[in-house]
This record gives sequence, C-alpha cells and structure tokens, in this order.
Amino acid sequence: MVTVLRLGHRLSRDRRVSTHLALVARAFGATRMLMTCRDERLERSVARVCESWGGDFRIEVVENWRTFLRRWRGVRVHLTMYGEHVDDRIQEIRSAGGELLVIVGAEKVPAEVFELADYNVAIGHQPHSEVAALAVFLDRYFEGRELHRDFGGKLRVVPMARGKRVEER
Ligand code: SAM
Repeated sequence: MVTVLRLGHRLSRDRRVSTHLALVARAFGATRMLMTCRDERLERSVARVCESWGGDFRIEVVENWRTFLRRWRGVRVHLTMYGEHVDDRIQEIRSAGGELLVIVGAEKVPAEVFELADYNVAIGHQPHSEVAALAVFLDRYFEGRELHRDFGGKLRVVPMARGKRVEER
C-alpha cells in the first residue's frame, strides 16, 4: 500500500498541479492521496476519473500533518531535490516492506519534514516538479509493474498503433 501526502496545497493556485499529482498517484500504483486541506473541486474531478476508469483510489484530508507523520508506522519517504539519489536507496525502501508514505511539497517544505522522514530522496538533483518526481519514484518502486494493472473501470483503452478506441464494459 502506498499513500501520497501532498503538503502545502494552496486552494485554486495549486489545484491543477495537485489534480495531476492525484491522477499520477492513482495511475502509478498509489492507493490514496492525503491533503492538508479540503478541496472539493479537486476531489470531484478525481472521483469522476475513478468512476469511469476504475480502481479504488481516494483523496482524504489529514487535520494535523505533523502528528500524522510522527505516528506513521511504515516507511516515510520525502521527495526532495536535496536528498539522496533515488538509485542509492530504492532497493532498501522496497525491501523495508509495510505501508509506504511518499511526501511531496507544493511550496517550500518545512525543515522538520526532512527530520521526520526516514528517507529524503532526490529524483536527480535538479529542480523540477512534484508530478514528475512522484511518477519516477513510483515507477522505480514498482519496477514498472503498475503500468500493467487492470483498473477494472467502465472505460478501457483498446491499445493501437494509430487512432483512439475506448471500450465500455
Ligand atoms: N522550492 C521548493 C523547496 O525548496 O522546497 C520546492 C518546490 S517544487 C516545485 C515542489 C516539490 O517537487 C518539492 O517539494 C518536491 O517534493 C518535488 N521535487 C521537485 N524537484 C525534485 C527532485 N529533483 N527530486 C525530488 N523531488 C523533487
């Protein structure tokens, strides 16, 4: 089970990126995304995707992320360009087992997150995006298997070399 914790979401300003983050979390194998504030528009658009395309991904709200982080029983991975290279830690993180929490920021992440995390992991040491960082991290964590999952949705893409076909089930 993989949970994504989105820190620092600012209503309306970060909605588009947080929505993309949730969609990537879902498509790349996470079970849920936790937000530090409620954003009903974001929740509705992610729910619409799940309704059509399947899976049981959900968005939840945590009231106090510090307490939540302290009490988390599994492994906490914070994605940050300042961390250790993903290739140096991914195997250790994978074999730790248990529930995994992946923390990503929006604005500047509070310094204590670096202390509360078990691992501070960089997807390369250049600044880029939480969406890209999460996609690459999950893909390395699941070793690509997540892209073969059947979500069991009402809609399913029929893969083809050219053109677009979607099947209704
Ligand atoms: N300037 C902010 C800071 O210093 O914390 C970071 C903002 S960045 C747009 C938002 C998030 O993207 C970060 O909190 C981090 O989770 C993720 N991120 C960006 N580049 C990354 C990288 N190279 N490796 C891992 N995560 C990265």
